[in-house]
Amino acid sequence: MKTDVFASRHIGIREEDLKHMLKTVEVDTMEQLIFETIPDDIRLKETLHLDDPMSEHEFLNHIQELSEKNKVYRSYIGLGYHESITPSVIKRNILENPGWYTAYTPYQAEIAQGRLEALLNFQTVVTDLTGMELANASLLDESTAAAEAMTMLFDVRSREQKKNNVLKFFVSEEILPQTLSLLKTRSTPLGIQLVVGNHETFEFGDDFYGAILQYPGKYGQVHDYADFVSKAKENNIKVAVAADILSLVMLTPPGEMGVDVVVGTTQRFGIPLGYGGPHAAFFATKEEYKRNIPGRIIGVTKDTDGKPAMRMALQTREQHIKRDKATSNICTAQVLLAVMAGMYAVYHGPEGLKYIARKVHNKTKILSEALKNISIQQLNSAFFDTIKVSVDDVDKVHNAAEKEGINFNYIDDKTISISINEATSFKDIVAIVNVFKILNTKTIDEGFYAEADKVHAIPASVQRNTPFLQNQVFNSYHSETQLMRYIKKLERKDLALNHSMISLGSCTMKLNAASEMLPLSSVNWGNIHPFVPVDQAEGYQLMLKELAKDLNIITGFAGTSLQPNSGAQGEYAGLMVIRAYHESRGDTNRNICIIPASAHGTNPASAVMAGMRVVVTKTDEKGNIDVIDLEEKVAIHSDNLAALMVTYPSTHGVFESSIKYITKLIHDNGGQVYMDGANMNAQVGLTNPAAIGADVCHLNLHKTFAIPHGGGGPGVGPICVAPQLVPFLPSNPLIKTGGEKAITAISAAPWGSSLACLISYGYIKMLGERGLTRSTEIAILNANYIKHRLEGQYEVLYTGEKGRAAHEMIIDCRPFKAHGIEVTDIAKRLMDYGFHAPTVSFPVAGTMMIEPTESEGLAELDRFCDAMISIREEIDTASAEDYDNVLKNSPHTLEMVTSDTWEFPYSRQKAAFPLSYVSDNKFWPSVRRVDDAYGDRNLICTCAPIEEYAEVE
Ligand SMILES: *Cc1c(COP(=O)(O)O)cnc(C)c1O
Repeated sequence: MKTDVFASRHIGIREEDLKHMLKTVEVDTMEQLIFETIPDDIRLKETLHLDDPMSEHEFLNHIQELSEKNKVYRSYIGLGYHESITPSVIKRNILENPGWYTAYTPYQAEIAQGRLEALLNFQTVVTDLTGMELANASLLDESTAAAEAMTMLFDVRSREQKKNNVLKFFVSEEILPQTLSLLKTRSTPLGIQLVVGNHETFEFGDDFYGAILQYPGKYGQVHDYADFVSKAKENNIKVAVAADILSLVMLTPPGEMGVDVVVGTTQRFGIPLGYGGPHAAFFATKEEYKRNIPGRIIGVTKDTDGKPAMRMALQTREQHIKRDKATSNICTAQVLLAVMAGMYAVYHGPEGLKYIARKVHNKTKILSEALKNISIQQLNSAFFDTIKVSVDDVDKVHNAAEKEGINFNYIDDKTISISINEATSFKDIVAIVNVFKILNTKTIDEGFYAEADKVHAIPASVQRNTPFLQNQVFNSYHSETQLMRYIKKLERKDLALNHSMISLGSCTMKLNAASEMLPLSSVNWGNIHPFVPVDQAEGYQLMLKELAKDLNIITGFAGTSLQPNSGAQGEYAGLMVIRAYHESRGDTNRNICIIPASAHGTNPASAVMAGMRVVVTKTDEKGNIDVIDLEEKVAIHSDNLAALMVTYPSTHGVFESSIKYITKLIHDNGGQVYMDGANMNAQVGLTNPAAIGADVCHLNLHKTFAIPHGGGGPGVGPICVAPQLVPFLPSNPLIKTGGEKAITAISAAPWGSSLACLISYGYIKMLGERGLTRSTEIAILNANYIKHRLEGQYEVLYTGEKGRAAHEMIIDCRPFKAHGIEVTDIAKRLMDYGFHAPTVSFPVAGTMMIEPTESEGLAELDRFCDAMISIREEIDTASAEDYDNVLKNSPHTLEMVTSDTWEFPYSRQKAAFPLSYVSDNKFWPSVRRVDDAYGDRNLICTCAPIEEYAEVE
């Protein structure tokens, strides 16, 4: 084996296994298998023109060199992003630990209690600091969270407001510029009218349904919003506040003012800047909106034995994402970053957070006094961490600051704002003051330091008086040993890719290679503010451009935007680009989006958010788009057709052979074709969206391109587009990006989650054309291998014309109802065998969708098949009359199996060690089956307060 060829490390199948596998799937060669799988008319004529692959060693050197092209200045730009210190214990044990970063979204609660607890901690941090009743387990960034607040409040307008079509939403001029841009993007298709203005002079009227404020304001002024909120209440206007999480340690929580929603980012809780992301945003609201809250909520419930257990609350709603009644399309969020931010609060505790907040605040006061001392006027009458100064010659300061490696926020030619952060030292403050000294010759009177102490920059009316984080978990793990063990304790409860295959259909849980992940730990990548001048981020610029170029080559398209932070955001971005394209041609009437019945829930949700009307087209009994039905729908809507959204290969795991006919049909009727690229792992190097006739696709870099799932995020969902759509690619209000006629922002940061893009960049650069194409081939082979091994035991629904699966397949579990067995029972029983269930009940209820990926080896595929076959035998012996069987009682915990009593009609060995391989690497689910319904009826989604622990003891 060539030890320096990354492909042979990324791909799990050994050359010597190939013969056996090809034979099992009844072909002579790989080429024959691919020929029988992918329609010939969409195969690429040429190989992809990508760079030759680098070895891992070469890549690590290369990425180090590239990182040195970034200039790591001290950035005091603020605007929602602040340098922060990731505690090393969190960095090493979470960010750099595959036990955390390779986990899947915690749908299978019994083997996900660790990250569920970590997310419950996150929710508690958010509810406590904001003073709200309820928080979700993260959103994509502060600006999209603000947009979610605007749309949720729109959705919950009073009956009267709906009747009177009240459309106005007030936006304080203190809002962050990127948030304003996003509010514009999101409001337009829904007909919401934004009115931007001063909250002090705002005239409350019954034509407004809601408002949003920034706390503290964008340049640091702390306003007392109590009056505004009470007046808004009187006028039936609901209020959202975008708040800085650290400031809430010292400022009155918005919840205490009676606001309806609080959003923000938790980036400054130990998450690197990463040139824009990924970071976890938060969304907190009142109990009364619990059914409207976007994203996922973690809740407490109980297991079969009545023991407390956690799971994702209101999951039925989450899985369908409300489809065409959607107000949000959030699927992948920012779980890994939320886990880290929550852990930052666990480590520091309430006293530690107070210490940090006061330290930041005091340095800001010192700076303010020092500048006053040299006759620089400070304009914020009340502030937490940001001051605004007025100077005669901004350029002079700008130049001097750059020379010193310092970035401020240059507001206009007279004003500058400066935001202080956790990492700012006293020396840094001196350096800042020295920059300003060039404006005059005054020397500092050292007495200013004592003066600073006397300054009251936070008026009593906005000072926080309520305690927070009193729960046990935030008051227990303040030494490194304690936190290290707490993190490990949680990690051990979770099954991630470092234990076994996670064959999640549509979610592509492939290897996230260590060499791809290592660069994320470097400060040269981590510590770059998203709004620095682009010439300070040359390393990033080169990497992002190169990645975009490679994605263009892979998809066959002309332009890429890396801005969307998830697949669903990509869908929305792509549809908004299509909308802008139609509008630019005067086709303002084109608003029909045709979507197959089998589509992922985010597709119709994104279409509705983009102001389109969803028309559902049928799928035939083979799982393909029903072409006759499609023709009818197209004919009816021809004049108003905006787009078709199609997943390819389909969500049924099939390369439909009529795809080119379908895309042509849409074009002939004036529509554009949106390809959902979640299944791109079956295409790379063999076919592509351009070849099937699509105009735009999103890619889930956290599926196909090796970004780890992180337990439910981060994600990166770039869109790649055909030439006619390039001009409309999204921009950013602060740093120009996107096309000539760019739509407004899709994400807060100009290039979305730049830091995570490094992973996909490494993936492509180390595999090269041959490795990428080989990965696709092996992914298809692995799926078909499982299909053949399970044949006769399970019925595989839907195959291509020549009987082949693509990179995944759906097995039908509905016939087992005759034995009283549901698909859930199989999912839970798989845990006893050491496996995470494949995708359950998507896209067809009562089925499982299995996707092994190219990274799994033959032995692992065989173990999985053995487990499935063994379960099939167990199903045969189960009876609908008696539910006391090994499937219904699964999963089996260590506590059950070692208990002094054992009253089940099968042995302990059968329960916990059903096949011989299991004992070699046993994974114990930490709770018995969780009760979802109970949890939804009794929604508790924060950690228990410390008093409750006290009662127990
Ligand atoms: C995963 C997925 C999506 C949504 O992507 P996110 O990154 O989770 O927002 C959309 N469509 C399909 C088919 C998917 O599998």
